[in-house]
Amino acid sequence: MQKIVLASGNVGKLKEFQQLLSGCGFDVVPQSDFNVPEAEETGLTFVENAIIKARNAAQYTGLPAIADDSGLEVAALNGQPGIYSARFSGPNATDETNNTKLLSELTNIPKHQRLAHYQCLLVFIRHATDSTPIICQGRWDGAILLEARGVGGFGYDPLFWVADYSCSAAEMEPAIKNTISHRGRAMAALLDQLKAHSV
Ligand code: IMP
Repeated sequence: MQKIVLASGNVGKLKEFQQLLSGCGFDVVPQSDFNVPEAEETGLTFVENAIIKARNAAQYTGLPAIADDSGLEVAALNGQPGIYSARFSGPNATDETNNTKLLSELTNIPKHQRLAHYQCLLVFIRHATDSTPIICQGRWDGAILLEARGVGGFGYDPLFWVADYSCSAAEMEPAIKNTISHRGRAMAALLDQLKAHSV
């Protein structure tokens, strides 16, 4: 079975990836199994950062790599936090401090102006110098709640309202989140591409 390294150290993401990739026919191993050091995300776009992370893991392990760069874009904040979602509240940010900052930035914004979406840019590279990475994108539309709801998921999920299911992303079954989320959609597209390229 083809071994692929998964270039993420984010526990929440890794759980979702495990589920999304189960039964995909690849032996997907997290980069922590190889002690891959975290790459510095110096890009100005999701796609640049995803490539940086994938290349770092491929370089370190000699294996093909998958990486995602993802984040939350809030319309009332002109698309912020965007690529800075993980570090929104500073260098020592946690999910909790990020969510507190997001609520405080939106204090005076009424419900109908709290539209937001998650973005996921997913990259597959065959090796560290691969000049034609496979790139897939997924988007998930929602809105930012006035207060946190639910304990599942990770990151901004307790504040992310999913209108079709009348709940926050943190109140959803993980399997359902994976079928409709930005990451789930990007991964479905990537698996199709990998099949089409006979990887
Ligand atoms: P990255 O690891 O640099 O791609 O940063 C991703 C950040 O975006 C996470 O740390 C979260 O803050 C946010 N994020 C991305 N995807 C999700 C999700 O599915 N749920 C909640 N937050 C997410």
